[in-house]
Amino acid sequence: MNEGAFNLTAAAAGGAHEADVVIVGAGPVGLFAVFQCGMLGMTCHVVDVLDHVGGQCAALYPEKPIYDIPGLPEASGQELTERLSAQAAPFAPVLHLDQQVMALEQGGEGAAPTWTLRTAAETELRASVVIIAAGVGAFQPKRPPLDSIGAFEGQPEGQGVHYAVRDPGAYRGKRVVIAGGGDSAVDWALALTDRGAKVYVVHRRDKFRAAPGNVGRMRALADDGLIELVVPGQLTGVDGDGGALRAVTVMHDAKPRTIPADALLPFYGMAQTLGPIADWGLGLERNRILTDPTTAATNHPGVFAIGDIAHYPNKLKLILTGFSEAAFAAHAAHGIVFPDKALHFEYSTTKGLPAG
Ligand SMILES: Cc1cc2nc3c(=O)[nH]c(=O)nc-3n(C[C@H](O)[C@H](O)[C@H](O)COP(=O)(O)OP(=O)(O)OC[C@H]3O[C@@H](n4cnc5c(N)ncnc54)[C@H](O)[C@@H]3O)c2cc1C
Repeated sequence: MNEGAFNLTAAAAGGAHEADVVIVGAGPVGLFAVFQCGMLGMTCHVVDVLDHVGGQCAALYPEKPIYDIPGLPEASGQELTERLSAQAAPFAPVLHLDQQVMALEQGGEGAAPTWTLRTAAETELRASVVIIAAGVGAFQPKRPPLDSIGAFEGQPEGQGVHYAVRDPGAYRGKRVVIAGGGDSAVDWALALTDRGAKVYVVHRRDKFRAAPGNVGRMRALADDGLIELVVPGQLTGVDGDGGALRAVTVMHDAKPRTIPADALLPFYGMAQTLGPIADWGLGLERNRILTDPTTAATNHPGVFAIGDIAHYPNKLKLILTGFSEAAFAAHAAHGIVFPDKALHFEYSTTKGLPAG
């Protein structure tokens, strides 16, 4: 199971799948949509370009406390993600992580399924209902603006340029340049040093925006000569041949310097872009999908939008608004997935959860 999927099942990339509902985006609102659809007897597959669930909460502010989730006076982004995953788990959603949904096409030979989604990892998903919970778009790592950096991407882990670490053991005995000053940079500097990598941390100033305890540990390792802090430092280039990285060049304290390196890990944060969703023929206003606030329906029959990506007059971009939109979408979806079944409104208290 994928580490970022908590107790949910993550499918291998590729292949063709069918579900009642496909949810684009495993952020807090996408995860809650699994619960709402599940309560109405619908099966869900969920796709996210990130290799973990939780959207902005997990990717941008895992440690920050959120105070406005009803019934949870305080929960960090990570804790909320874990709780939502646990709430979705009884409905056994299938996750397709680390892959962007590129295309949404209408099939439609009469009976369901009528929508086909294709991902960048060649996974094909068919469903009669699609719920787009894509936030403000797909997360992509911010790449340093270095000439020829692309030539060193896509190498096996432990060599070349990577924007996430999946296999820390691959860095054992390697010379690794980590660029950035946030939690990812500091956490991985510690973790890879622990696993026997020689780590250089390049950051533009001698102040780190990471958990103070971890910054302290990193500085202590630097004092012992186990990590080298290259501050103030700025990446200026990457050198090597045939895709194999040999060195990273930096301006260190206003002087050019070459650091022999096997791997470069730039941790400059994430950017969100609407990406392919803009080409799916949906009604848009300023990069948001126009919806009917009473059903979450878009201009495509069977396609709903909820959470940050959904727009209507007086929309409040809050997690709790997205939760409510997920309930509207699930109730509207029921009539499409089960056209011959009447929907009898029931509370969760009377209905209960599936036996697990
Ligand atoms: C620092 C910070 C603090 C915040 N504090 C609060 C707060 O206190 N209270 C509150 O209510 N809100 C808060 N918010 C806002 C809140 O995080 C968002 O409203 C919430 O995350 C929206 O959830 P979502 O599921 O709609 O979208 P997101 O969390 O953005 O998740 C969308 C997911 O969809 C994925 N995706 C997009 N396009 C594709 C595609 N084509 N293929 C595959 N995957 C795709 C993205 O990778 C992402 O994981 C805060 C935001 C920030 C940045």
